[in-house]
Amino acid sequence: MELVKESIKNLKEYKTNNIEFKIKLDANEGKNILLQDIYKEGIKFNEDFNLNFYPDNDAYLLKQEIKKYLNVDTSNIIAGNGSSEMIELVIKTFVDKGEIVLSSIPTFSMYSIYSQIYSAEFIGVKSNEDFGVDIDKLIKKAKETNPKVIFICNPNNPTGNLINKNDIKKLLKNTNGLVVVDEAYMEFAEGSMVDEISNYENLIVLRTLSKALGLAGIRLGYMISNQKIINIINNVKSPYNLNSISQYIGVKALENKDKIFEYVKEVKNEREFLYKELNEMKIKAYKSYANFIFFKSDINNLYEKLVKDGILIRKFSDELEGYYRVSIGDKNENRMFIKILKEIIENEKS
Ligand SMILES: *Cc1c(COP(=O)(O)O)cnc(C)c1O
Repeated sequence: MELVKESIKNLKEYKTNNIEFKIKLDANEGKNILLQDIYKEGIKFNEDFNLNFYPDNDAYLLKQEIKKYLNVDTSNIIAGNGSSEMIELVIKTFVDKGEIVLSSIPTFSMYSIYSQIYSAEFIGVKSNEDFGVDIDKLIKKAKETNPKVIFICNPNNPTGNLINKNDIKKLLKNTNGLVVVDEAYMEFAEGSMVDEISNYENLIVLRTLSKALGLAGIRLGYMISNQKIINIINNVKSPYNLNSISQYIGVKALENKDKIFEYVKEVKNEREFLYKELNEMKIKAYKSYANFIFFKSDINNLYEKLVKDGILIRKFSDELEGYYRVSIGDKNENRMFIKILKEIIENEKS
């Protein structure tokens, strides 16, 4: 008997970097700005977070903080193990075998991976030459293929491109499918769709604490949508999906809105610095609305050369061969990255 199900036969493990590094700029993780305070204060697992009990299945206290953070009602929120779980939950709930999931490409790989696992067909619509998204082209494809779900990563990973709100509204009005807007990096941009959830029947917004809040290690993401959709997804969600410790730290972190915005401002300044420096080096860098910059370089084995100096960035292959993504680090890290990049370019000449 063939034990492995057909849909996952050519699936490959999600490989993460285990290379030694001094400066880690490969995964868009933020800085440890909030945890420092939490550690200083000490973690107090009081009666609200009794670890011998199962966690709060509704993540009530966490949702209270998300409510304050984004000005949405707690009944419009589901939280879980990173936005990765939210992506899976949406596909698991709404997409049947053979149905279509649509997205602009290049984009976050998990949309197509989960589609494959659930035997759906993923269709990627190529973005423009400059990685901008032609919304009319996407709408046209949606009309042709009738997707159950359309993923919009905004700002987009890995390109840093931002789609404006009016384009997303146009897409929402022109499709019967669900439009899932993944706003993992929206703190670094403007144009969130969160305040639009009650205006559409088919809109879901995903957010995470992994990037702007610098808490990738606690695996906490959430979705926001109208109550009808939230109720349906709650029927599918695993019980106790979000552990008590992550709920506790999430609450503490979201209380620090000022600190988060201060950090976001610093990242935006540094993004401007890196963008300028890269362009001055005649490296084609794309304007980014996230906490990373996507760029193209003809230097052979640039990734390996940077690794040799202890700097880890993200490289791409196949159609994106020669393209790289570097996370915005702190002031020192960014200057070190630029310094070493300049040295590599100098060495290429000689
Ligand atoms: C990093 C990232 C996420 C976050 O995933 P988590 O599971 O919340 O850590 C989601 N979507 C995109 C596009 C990302 O780049």
